[in-house]
Amino acid sequence: MKVKRVQNILILGGTSKAAELAAKLVQQPDTRVISSLAGRTRNPATLPGETRIGGFGGVEGLAAYIADENIHLVIDATHPFATQISANAIEATAIAGVKLEQDQRLPWQKQDGDIWHSVVSGEEAAALIPAGARVFLALGSQHLSPFYCRKDVYFLVRMVDAPGDILQFENHDLMAAKPGVTVAAELQTIKAHRISHLVCRNSGGKHGYTKIAAARQLGVPIFMIERPDPVC
Ligand code: NAP
Repeated sequence: MKVKRVQNILILGGTSKAAELAAKLVQQPDTRVISSLAGRTRNPATLPGETRIGGFGGVEGLAAYIADENIHLVIDATHPFATQISANAIEATAIAGVKLEQDQRLPWQKQDGDIWHSVVSGEEAAALIPAGARVFLALGSQHLSPFYCRKDVYFLVRMVDAPGDILQFENHDLMAAKPGVTVAAELQTIKAHRISHLVCRNSGGKHGYTKIAAARQLGVPIFMIERPDPVC
């Protein structure tokens, strides 16, 4: 009797691209797909295939997981700002002797009509915001503190999960929501709050791009936090 060989694939995820990949790969015959999430989102969407949540315990932990689960292929489809897990994946797959594919979103490129100030950090963006500005902060809760010192600025803060702690802004509104699905929705948000500037990270991908297109249409300048260098 011929025994079918199951291919076990580990997707390092947390992005919509990783979810799309899982949906595609589970369709393949004799394939077991495990998506791994860091656990940063409170109620992550259900993914096709299996899901595991939480850190592995560094390079050694990931290498051990790969061996224990008899993983044949690791796909790094993590968020482009999650550089530590990507570096760990390179080392761990080398130790475990399995193939690694990198499938990450390309950064957004400036288009005609975009007014972008590229910055390396939230601190740099915070220092450059003009006095009296009305700023749309499209950043996660762990990236807000550099902006607290700008008492002279109004902030519209949008994040997927409402923060556990009170935000220490002088003048702000909180929008616990995902990025607007359509450009029209983002135009509405920007207009309703009379936004003069947008701050976001160059995450790439189609889901977060609607705000960029809306800012372009309205001539709203963007402080674009560019991607960090990979962890060596
Ligand atoms: P990171 O700095 O690359 O990773 C830190 C640790 O988190 C890793 O060493 C690993 O812990 C664990 N980890 C990260 N991704 C994992 C995954 N897919 N499965 C299992 N464990 C994972 O990433 P981060 O701390 O999550 O975030 C860094 C930046 O990326 C932040 O700016 C964040 O906003 C952004 N980001 C991350 C995600 C995400 O899903 N991770 C999503 C959106 C944005 P062990 O060493 O214990 O294995």
